[in-house]
Amino acid sequence: MTKKSVVTEAQEIQLAIELINLGARLQLLESETSLSRERLLKLYKELKGVSPPKGMLPFSTDWFITWQPNIHSSLFINIHKYLVEHAQISGIEAVMKAYKLYLEQVEPEPGGEPVLSLTRAWTLVRFFESKMLETACCSKCGGEFVVHRLDLNHDYTCGLCHMPSRAGKTRKAREDAASASASAPASTQA
Ligand SMILES: [Zn+2]
Repeated sequence: MTKKSVVTEAQEIQLAIELINLGARLQLLESETSLSRERLLKLYKELKGVSPPKGMLPFSTDWFITWQPNIHSSLFINIHKYLVEHAQISGIEAVMKAYKLYLEQVEPEPGGEPVLSLTRAWTLVRFFESKMLETACCSKCGGEFVVHRLDLNHDYTCGLCHMPSRAGKTRKAREDAASASASAPASTQA
């Protein structure tokens, strides 16, 4: 095992700080830096004043396909794809840069949470790399949207051009519940 240089370590700490400030979970930090779990926990606490949330990351591809997350995920992945193709960046650097541009586009309210967290965005890129998700071109607007790779996506229509109405029971039940409490403010929390 080679001894880590001080410069490399300083760069990794810098990267971890940036990731934590963007909302990264511990699993993301552990897989993108070689810093020990103890150091990462300490760093996290120092920056955020609290311990990182425990528990596993959400690993399902389905979240990215649901209506509102799909629009945010598609926006992010298009920015990411553009940067990888045109800005000669890759890996975590591309994810971070694309995520910052995504935040500029969606401008979450001060103190509010963006629909797509950094950890979700990072997971999304991994789902693309493992070819579980891909983009399909909307036959109406021509935009590229996140879809399951194994679904039939010819003649695909995106969630903006076609609001979900063909909807199964779950959706119907949710809409009934929503109209019953129409005055309740909409929440972006999943
Ligand atoms: Zn469309």
